[in-house]
Amino acid sequence: MSHSDPVPLAQALLRCASVTPQDEGAQAILAAALTPMGFTVHHLPFNRTPNLFARLGTGTPHFCFAGHTDVVPPGQAWRHPPFAGAIEDGVLYGRGACDMKGAIAAFVAACARHLAKGPPRGSISLLITGDEEGPATDGTVRVLEWMEANGQLPDFCLVGEPTNPAAIGDMIKIGRRGSLNATITLHGVQGHVAYPHRAHNPIHPLITLLSELTGTVLDTGTQHFEPTSLQVTSIDVGNQANNVIPASATARLNIRFNDRHTGASLQAWLREAVDRHAPPHGARQASLDVTVSGEAFLTADTGFTTRLAGAIAQVTGVQPRLDTGGGTSDARFIARTTKVAEFGLVGATMHKTDECVSVADLRLLTDIYAQILRDFLA
Ligand SMILES: [Zn+2]
Repeated sequence: MSHSDPVPLAQALLRCASVTPQDEGAQAILAAALTPMGFTVHHLPFNRTPNLFARLGTGTPHFCFAGHTDVVPPGQAWRHPPFAGAIEDGVLYGRGACDMKGAIAAFVAACARHLAKGPPRGSISLLITGDEEGPATDGTVRVLEWMEANGQLPDFCLVGEPTNPAAIGDMIKIGRRGSLNATITLHGVQGHVAYPHRAHNPIHPLITLLSELTGTVLDTGTQHFEPTSLQVTSIDVGNQANNVIPASATARLNIRFNDRHTGASLQAWLREAVDRHAPPHGARQASLDVTVSGEAFLTADTGFTTRLAGAIAQVTGVQPRLDTGGGTSDARFIARTTKVAEFGLVGATMHKTDECVSVADLRLLTDIYAQILRDFLA
């Protein structure tokens, strides 16, 4: 079958209940669509995470589309079953409709249209993981390692995440904030509340510490980024008694940071503050556990992002905004080696009950992706 219409492929993908880490045949459906179009398909499972890399042609420029076939769990009370691919009044329903099986189908349809005009200049590839909504350890990162080892790194990469707040063409993401989680535990000396001189209450210095951290202006934002934000997410003591000074107190926090900082620089800042506020007579040293789930990045190549924005504006008539907001995405891994930006469907229903995309939007996104291929590979 011809794939120049994205709707049948989007429906076929939505009918696979590919909740991370399940695949349920989604990537085989994609491979079956790409192979007859001339793509060489590599299935690259790592630790049972399904991944796929497919490339058509070997020349440069090499334009890569990146995305994921896995979805978050559907939850309850859908108006149509979440894995049925039902269409009602021109709207396609299903978990993954906008995040992001719809965009994958649109890109394949754009490729079909592009190839109908003859073999392309350069080459086109798809980097598809089944582990974006999960831990993301055996997905895009591992495929990129394989691509690098096999001489398959692209010149440009477009990630098809849903970037538009309200209408297709609103917004391109040209970077993302980083994210750091920290758990801080201060240890004091347990004792009777009526005899505080015989104890050291760890809650009091923890409050002072958190107050200092939340009161610090880490930066005031940049041209492309919002100011870095620190949010305390929990304070845990677990003390059941009202006459006991507890032995320890724990707090958790998250920092969403821009490219003025790195995970390491923020960790060093936290470490210094924790050590300064830790009770000197604590039974144990204060602990600080940090995990950096993503570093901040910005695609500084304005030539690339201007060309993308131009292709979008040519189809929609509106110049998209360049933005860096929202959560992390797999673009953070791709940015280490390749010029990358993100553009996909409207994100209003992603991860929600009744996730959906209008058929008109699917076709509009296909038109835009086809224009992007024309501009980059003409
Ligand atoms: Zn997504």
